Amino acid sequence: MEVLTNRNKPIFIHEGYQYIFDKFGADQVTKFYRCRRRDIHCKGRIMVSINGVIEVTGNHGGYDESPVGIEIARTITNVKKRAMDTMEAPAVAINQCIEHLTVAGKGMLSSVNNLKQVPTESSAS
Ligand SMILES: [Zn+2]
Repeated sequence: MEVLTNRNKPIFIHEGYQYIFDKFGADQVTKFYRCRRRDIHCKGRIMVSINGVIEVTGNHGGYDESPVGIEIARTITNVKKRAMDTMEAPAVAINQCIEHLTVAGKGMLSSVNNLKQVPTESSAS
């Protein structure tokens, strides 16, 4: 399954891990993806052949990817698609899509939104 990041990069989700497209193989059809967790220098890799066979070629080192993170990635993709397909206002599309999130997903989404807000009161005076 493919979803998109905030920067519209394709993400491949496999066995609970998120992979970002890296490059094509020497045959020009096999796709190589690397684990999204570059922040922890994860060595997880997959190869996806043209007939859809997925081969895991790297080791994730044993951490557990958060299922909520994947849920959020899916939701963001749905919001983008819906906004493009229906010409709805973004806020309407977001509300339609987050309606189906789990409680944990909604909690994470609101914390993500909070992070984007710039504090305005503390240092003003
Ligand atoms: Zn990984």
